[in-house]
Amino acid sequence: MKVVYDLIIIGSGPAGINSGIYAARYKLKTLIIGEINGGMAASAHEICNLISYKTIKGFEFAMKLKEQIEHLGVKIISKKVVDIKKDKLFEVNVEDEIFFSKKIIFATGSEKRKLNIKDEGKYVGRGISYCATCDAAFFKNKIVSVVGGSDAALTAALLLSEFASKVYLIYRKDKFFRAEPAWVEAVEKNEKIQTMFNLNVIELFGEKFLEKIKLDNGLILDASGLFIEIGSNPSSNLASQLGVNLENNFIIVDINQETNIKGVFAAGDVTNNNLKQIITAAAGGAIATTQIYKEIKSDV
Ligand SMILES: Cc1cc2nc3c(=O)[nH]c(=O)nc-3n(C[C@H](O)[C@H](O)[C@H](O)COP(=O)(O)OP(=O)(O)OC[C@H]3O[C@@H](n4cnc5c(N)ncnc54)[C@H](O)[C@@H]3O)c2cc1C
Repeated sequence: MKVVYDLIIIGSGPAGINSGIYAARYKLKTLIIGEINGGMAASAHEICNLISYKTIKGFEFAMKLKEQIEHLGVKIISKKVVDIKKDKLFEVNVEDEIFFSKKIIFATGSEKRKLNIKDEGKYVGRGISYCATCDAAFFKNKIVSVVGGSDAALTAALLLSEFASKVYLIYRKDKFFRAEPAWVEAVEKNEKIQTMFNLNVIELFGEKFLEKIKLDNGLILDASGLFIEIGSNPSSNLASQLGVNLENNFIIVDINQETNIKGVFAAGDVTNNNLKQIITAAAGGAIATTQIYKEIKSDV
């Protein structure tokens, strides 16, 4: 017999998990489908702005999300949604199975941007990384570079300085105007980190593994590791296929987190909210689920 969920949440980051927490409290029949447990937050070195924690590692935070959702008994599966259709119900396809639901929340977050230079793909896992938290420990006593100027880039450089012998922090602008002042100060005080402004990485060298990088001023640096932290793109393709309206690829939502398509909601970094953080992602999930509960209760 066909199982019909009240709600399918796509994504198991802070927006998806908090949607699930509220759905459990509202006793909605819910399924969460998420590829990466904890989402982007899992790759945060240290989260220092989260209510109720002085500080918590991203990985530990992701484990706590999983623990909490499992404790509430919400069904969660680690798969990638590859297609979604709307008939009377939504049909959510994860390659080997199709799930049916009355409502959908896109909590799909975003994907790390690539530098898009020659051989970038060749060196992924062989020196190039998009996640310092995951890979920093592999670079003990090595020379590494970080590209970017946001909080993510600065915190990656700080984490790497705990392992590497030297960290170049390469940024295309002339100052860190997007980063939190506290992180900028920590980077400036760190003797292992050398900041290099107004520069871009343009070429990569190495036999099997990355060995050197070339900058657009001609300088060639030793680099066993290159950490790319230049932002991310919203994962809104599936929503777009359903006809959801986007703005610069972010899903447009109203004050209830609903999109232009009836029954389709979105929360977190994939939406056009003004602040891409854990707290706002979680809040968006709570608002979306509350509206869904009201609609399901009144059979809209
Ligand atoms: C290095 C770093 C440090 C950070 N530090 C902080 C911090 O200190 N404080 C803070 O508040 N924020 C921080 N952030 C930002 C924070 O991580 C994000 O704002 C937050 O994770 C957004 O949550 P989300 O649930 O919207 O998306 P995400 O966390 O990106 O989760 C998206 C989820 O959707 C899944 N998904 C996507 N497409 C599919 C699909 N087709 N099928 C199935 N699943 C899919 C992903 O696997 C993932 O589970 C940091 C981010 C980074 C990268």
